Amino acid sequence: MSMYDVEEIRSDFPILGRILPNGKPLVYFDNAATSQKPNAVIDAMSTYYKTYNSNAHRGAHTLADEATTALEDARESIAAFFGATPSNLIYTSGTTEAINLVAYAWARKNLAEGDAVVLTEMEHHADIVPWQELSKEIGIELRYVPLDLEKMSLDMEAYKHALPGAALVCVVHTSNVLGTRNPIEEIIALAKASGARTLIDAAQGASHERINFEELGADFVTLSAHKMAGPTGIGGLLIANDALAQCGPFLTGGQMIRSVSTDGSVYRDGAALLETGTPRIAEAIGWGAAIDWLSKIDFDQMHDHIKALAMMAYEGMREIDGITLYSDPSRPGSSGTISFLHERIASDDLAMLLNEGGIALRTGQHCAQPLMDALGVASTNRISLWLYNTEEEIQSFLTHLRMVCERFGA
Ligand code: PLP
Repeated sequence: MSMYDVEEIRSDFPILGRILPNGKPLVYFDNAATSQKPNAVIDAMSTYYKTYNSNAHRGAHTLADEATTALEDARESIAAFFGATPSNLIYTSGTTEAINLVAYAWARKNLAEGDAVVLTEMEHHADIVPWQELSKEIGIELRYVPLDLEKMSLDMEAYKHALPGAALVCVVHTSNVLGTRNPIEEIIALAKASGARTLIDAAQGASHERINFEELGADFVTLSAHKMAGPTGIGGLLIANDALAQCGPFLTGGQMIRSVSTDGSVYRDGAALLETGTPRIAEAIGWGAAIDWLSKIDFDQMHDHIKALAMMAYEGMREIDGITLYSDPSRPGSSGTISFLHERIASDDLAMLLNEGGIALRTGQHCAQPLMDALGVASTNRISLWLYNTEEEIQSFLTHLRMVCERFGA
């Protein structure tokens, strides 16, 4: 697509034409939770199940060959999209499993009591809890970088203070609550200079910005396919060669072994060590189709489109009495995620009232309780926009929000 044509993009997503049971057209603003899927993804998965469903890597027949080829072709397209080689992409169920994989297969083997891992208050629980578990198990020290509340961004001075002696830095690329895009290039450069490895949680980042693993230079980058037009159940870990060489096993069983006897087992090397059991075949094929579909999108134009919508929503919300905003989409690189609260309408009630207008948004603590604590709130309402949202949808959202606030928030 040379020009950004939102109607053409929308026509690829059958669900976007849905009329809800109350007669309202769907306005889907919950893209940070999961994105919708284009026909290309739905069809690729359906074709696999209808015509060549078979297990991969373990059969001598035609269907097994076709399934294996499709699984590995998808790995090639996905790795290429992220500027990585296929042997550096490990399929996981998503970002949560990818971070657990790093904690168990790499950190458990390479870190010891007293080693420090730097986290931030902006992390999703997926990038906190595995480290807390490891801390209980082997006594690593966890250092949390606080927020600069004025700027809704990380306190980079505090980061610099947390760095000396740290073995690993784990940072979210883009916050799922604030929409803030962190200065990950600077964070990685500082970590490298200090001798620490880096893990970038790109669950939100990968859907609004092209990420190039090799250029970025992080040791670990984690991905969730379902937030970038792909299916649920799959994502990946991009892992640098030397970190991969240091990994022990993660899940054990079939596929990751070279040989097994009653006396013990010999494991495979590299990425093969870290993928166990029947692969996520349909899901990988679906993710590959999503990547092929996304490859046709100009990400700069997409980013501008999302930013223009987010600014329109932000400016409109700012004028509504009683609304507090916890995001600033005018910040460079911000995603289309905006958190907000009404001072007199509980967030659950507000979400329910907006749902009556057909608007799907998220409410709660967004798996980011330390961030909620830092903001001094129990929850937020969150709209998260993506490439197929439109100005009309923003206007419809603002109209409903104004109406709800006038009627229930006085
Ligand atoms: N990290 C961030 C920033 C997220 O937004 C999410 C999901 O919302 C996750 C991690 C967890 O991803 P998944 O549930 O796909 O494993």
